[in-house]
Amino acid sequence: MTETILLDMDGVVLEGPGTPQSVYDRAADAAAEELGLEPTDRQRRELRSHGYETVASACSALGADPREFWRRKEDEASRLAAERIRSGERGIYGDVAALESLADGTTLALVSNNRHETARFVADFLPVPFAAARGRPPTPEGFRRRKPDPHLLRETLDGLGVEDGLYVGDRETDVLAARKVGLEAAYLRRPHNADVPLPEGAVYELEGLDELPDVLEAPEDRSRSFR
Ligand SMILES: [Mg+2]
Repeated sequence: MTETILLDMDGVVLEGPGTPQSVYDRAADAAAEELGLEPTDRQRRELRSHGYETVASACSALGADPREFWRRKEDEASRLAAERIRSGERGIYGDVAALESLADGTTLALVSNNRHETARFVADFLPVPFAAARGRPPTPEGFRRRKPDPHLLRETLDGLGVEDGLYVGDRETDVLAARKVGLEAAYLRRPHNADVPLPEGAVYELEGLDELPDVLEAPEDRSRSFR
């Protein structure tokens, strides 16, 4: 029986597959203003983009420190993301309630490619006693080490002092990262991935978080789909 359940955040507890581009647009504009930058339209598009190399090249052209710009943009994005969750603009999936009843006797943790600050915020915001919450640091290195890099999962397992368990995600990269650290992968169906082929290596296919109690009771040597 699995006693540790790690969960991806975007598309698993937070509605929708990820942070919308509009948040990064606003975050980049705010960071540019804080640093007194005056980007051209093209440079502004580059600063808004969700890739470090593009952002860094625009920063170089503007004479700005790319790491400093990146950190400010990430901080601002975290602030905006928290605002959207607090106001209900970004919803929480209803079946997150099932996690509350699992917390007794199960260690739960959030492990997300999203920013660490946002993962922490969500863990505090939800009425679920997460033992840990981990996301990417606001640095280019942190951005590069997103899943399928197993780094975030490895650090979380080490922090919890456990070696096995289940990782619940909504993307193939979640399954890949889980397998790299020896976790069982559960692929969670949501509206945005309803038609995506089941990634190779997923041990479970779930239609909702409320199916997790069945997974905990499932024989360990049998892969199952809880449809
Ligand atoms: Mg996700």
